[in-house]
Amino acid sequence: MEKGNMELKVPPSKTSSSQLPVLGRGTKRRLDKENAPEPEKKRIRGPATAVTIAVSRPRVPPMATVPRTKKQEAAQKAPLKSGPWHTTATTTDVKSRKPISAISAPKSVSAASPTTARKGSSKRPAWDVKGQLCDLRKEFSACQARTEVLTKENQELRSQFGQAEQQVKSLEAENKVLMGELTKAQAQAKQDQLELVRLGARVQELEEHLHTQEGLVQSMQEERLQLREERRDLAARLDVQEAQLQESVAALAKSQADSTAQAALLAERTEHLHSLEMERRYLHNQLQELKGNIRVFCRVRPALPGESTPPPGLILFPPGPNGASEPSTRLSLTRPCDDRCSIIGGLPGPPVRYDFSFDRVFLPGSRQSEVFEEVSLLVQSALDGYPVCIFAYGQTGSGKTFTMEGGPGGDPQVEGLIPRAVRHLFSVAKKLEAQGWSYTFVASYVEIYNETIRDLLACVEALLNLARQSRAVARTAQNEQSSRSHSVFQLQISGKHLGQNLHCAAPLNLVDLAGSERLDPGLSTGPADRERLKETQAINSSLSTLGLVIMALSNKEPHVPYRNSKLTYLLQNSLRGSAKMLMFVNISPLEENFSESLNSLRFASKVNQCVIGTARANKK
Ligand code: ADP
Ligand code: MG
Repeated sequence: MEKGNMELKVPPSKTSSSQLPVLGRGTKRRLDKENAPEPEKKRIRGPATAVTIAVSRPRVPPMATVPRTKKQEAAQKAPLKSGPWHTTATTTDVKSRKPISAISAPKSVSAASPTTARKGSSKRPAWDVKGQLCDLRKEFSACQARTEVLTKENQELRSQFGQAEQQVKSLEAENKVLMGELTKAQAQAKQDQLELVRLGARVQELEEHLHTQEGLVQSMQEERLQLREERRDLAARLDVQEAQLQESVAALAKSQADSTAQAALLAERTEHLHSLEMERRYLHNQLQELKGNIRVFCRVRPALPGESTPPPGLILFPPGPNGASEPSTRLSLTRPCDDRCSIIGGLPGPPVRYDFSFDRVFLPGSRQSEVFEEVSLLVQSALDGYPVCIFAYGQTGSGKTFTMEGGPGGDPQVEGLIPRAVRHLFSVAKKLEAQGWSYTFVASYVEIYNETIRDLLACVEALLNLARQSRAVARTAQNEQSSRSHSVFQLQISGKHLGQNLHCAAPLNLVDLAGSERLDPGLSTGPADRERLKETQAINSSLSTLGLVIMALSNKEPHVPYRNSKLTYLLQNSLRGSAKMLMFVNISPLEENFSESLNSLRFASKVNQCVIGTARANKK
């Protein structure tokens, strides 16, 4: 039967038109479908289809209304060729079922009602419209029941859905929290990972450290063993040494007794030594006095390279009474014959010879050390408390500075009297310390120029500055001036012997006198020459005062003219009665210096004839 036919044959009834509008039902179902949530839609699909079928094809059993067997489900899942309606098996199955009341069993109503309708009346004839209507009503009420059930079910599902939504929301919130926690945990995990890496490295480092420490421990253990061995050895040695110590203690006790005896002996000997020292001083002084408190040494310098060789016989050194073996004390000057010694008649006169005798004469070849040997005895006198004055007299260029200070270049071989005397004093003072003497020295170095005293030590700074400006100029100026002035090196010596309560003090003077040459008659009256004249007069005056002072002292005159010159005034305490004096007369070997040499020797001879009264040491 065709759909179109059926619609034409079924007369419109009030009920059907008002209660079951076919199209309206379809619309409602569609609305339900649309409104329903997704899971509900699925569930509705089966029965809804069955209703449609029931309306449009009443004779075909509605598939979805009957509870499906597994077989049927399988058949439905299989690919359909002409729709489920044509499946014979389904029809058979449905037919075999018992009629189920649609209302009494709401869960199975959808499946039971159409079947019941058909079972109650087998296929109605076409004319039985009433029957059909009845069937349809039944079917409709069954459908209504089913709709109610489905609505309920729907509501239930909606509430379930609502719950599920709530659940979803709470789960989402929970999820959010958990996500946050997860992020945190991930960050923490990352950090932990880094920490782990760091800790791994640290562990490795510590392991290496441990390894080294283990090595160290091992070596220390070995060392400990070794030390233990050494300790054992040392203990053994200690035992031996303790035994030795015991012996030594015994020996020490014995030697202490000995040393007490020896100390007494030593004190006795020290006392004896002291008396010997005092005796030595006395005898030394006796010897010096016997030699003369005023002594004169003559020193002839050699001809220097570049100087004309002196004619033979100009200066002679006649041997003494005991022959050439003893030190020379004599010297002869022979004036070469010149115009002045020619006699009337044009014949040359005989050469004139001047003989001199001194305490000692040093030949041109004599060394500085030889010269000092003689002087050292006087230095000893200064240490013993006798004032000492050593002068160097002579014309400029005769070797005074060489004798006093030394030669150029700082060569120790050519060191002069001043450095040698200072060194000697220091070494003797050191030796005397062992005998209980202690010495102090105060040095001064002054220059007397034109009767003015200048402190040379204070001038050192100024000289150095000058030298910095021009060394050559300074040196020339210095040499020039030094020959025109007296330089006095003075060393104040004071010695103390605490044990004997002795004290001695004396000055040692080493004087490099100004050049003794006489006034040059060729000097003009210019300002430079006037200055020169003044200088020369000052020098001559002071040198003659020195001679006069020595003579006055030697003659024991009541008045000694110390004040007549700065030099004698400065040296008065070193020249008085107890003093010892040594004068070097320095001589140039050159022929052109003959007359100056003669003058110097004459002056020195006068001094040599003087004897200062018995010297007394400055002792308290
Ligand atoms: P003065 O001080 O009397 O003017 P110097 O001591 O300056 O004389 O001597 C003049 C020169 O002669 C210097 O060059 C010095 O080195 C030299 N001279 C002096 N005496 C000797 C000597 N005994 N041996 C060698 N050279 C000397
Ligand atoms: Mg000089």
